Amino acid sequence: MNNKRDYYEVLGVDRKAGDQEIKSAYRKLALQHHPDRNPQTKEESEEKFKEITEAYSVLADAEKRAAYDRYGFAGVSGSAASSPDFSSSIFSDFEDIFGDFFGFGDMFGRGRGQGPRSRRGADLRYDLEISFEEAAAGIDTKIKIPRSETCTTCGGTGARKGSTPVTCSACGGRGQIRQQQGFFTISRACPQCGGHGQVFRDACSECRGEGRVRREKVLSIRIPSGVDDGTRLRVAGEGESGALGGAPGDLYVVLRVREHPFFERRGDDLYCTLPISMAQAALGAELKVPTLNGQERLRIPEGTQSGSVVRLHGKGLASLEGRGHGDLYIVLQVVTPTHLNREQRRFMEMLAPGLRVENKPLERRVSGRVKDGYG
Ligand SMILES: [Zn+2]
Ligand SMILES: [Zn+2]
Repeated sequence: MNNKRDYYEVLGVDRKAGDQEIKSAYRKLALQHHPDRNPQTKEESEEKFKEITEAYSVLADAEKRAAYDRYGFAGVSGSAASSPDFSSSIFSDFEDIFGDFFGFGDMFGRGRGQGPRSRRGADLRYDLEISFEEAAAGIDTKIKIPRSETCTTCGGTGARKGSTPVTCSACGGRGQIRQQQGFFTISRACPQCGGHGQVFRDACSECRGEGRVRREKVLSIRIPSGVDDGTRLRVAGEGESGALGGAPGDLYVVLRVREHPFFERRGDDLYCTLPISMAQAALGAELKVPTLNGQERLRIPEGTQSGSVVRLHGKGLASLEGRGHGDLYIVLQVVTPTHLNREQRRFMEMLAPGLRVENKPLERRVSGRVKDGYG
């Protein structure tokens, strides 16, 4: 109890403050600190929100306030002071102040009333182009997203400072208008107040009464290794701000992965074609082959055929589902020499009789034998 702040201090009002002043101080702070509006600092906001709500629940009640003035926290302990169990009378006060501005119905486990409805903010899509290597390794990057955010000048109310809200005449403060259409009754947001249930004589100059402003926000995001072209990453709560205190939407980062100059991706496996000379194919050779993490030594046996495939285990891409890595397949392509000089030609002619093959079509068979590579 010792570290509790004085209720008047919490709401930032004078000890002689009137009911209206207390109410509006609370409204302003509650709008500012509502956890739904501060998804990044949710826990902190919840604490803050509880603190101001507790202060308000005492100071808004004449009896409790008198007790608090006389005896301090001891005068009100066991009642509203033991938050977060807000009493139902306090809840009706909330509705009185905010309507259903925050969707308190949800917060208190009650169904929403007929008050103005909070709306979830729109989801945003951001297309991000990254290199093949970045997709393979994963990266931390920053993106700039233009989006609507709650106006900080008016706390999202849309009202100019000091201007008092007036109950909307069109919807009577419900924020919704019901229309009878044949057998159905349809509710929709009131066009006059935009669903707020209240209108302001003077609109906030920052947001022109919208309660939201366009801002560019820089977000740090982590792109996991193994993402593919078209992979969608969801960043919860980083979409547009909700209307009337609704939860923010989500941000979807859609990845465009640039093609690699020689690696081709199939699932988590990589493919590339590696040219080798006739001599290397015939005699065998030790090669250096590129992988995503540098060079790898690869020994090809003598008598390697063009088109044979060597597999390097685990040298593919990381599986997004966390199932290890794919493999790297290297297709060996024997390159026939095209410009033999006279001496080479003579050697080739000498070799020719011994290299003779039967020029007869091969029987059909599954092609592409795969060999495991060994370094
Ligand atoms: Zn504003
Ligand atoms: Zn209205």
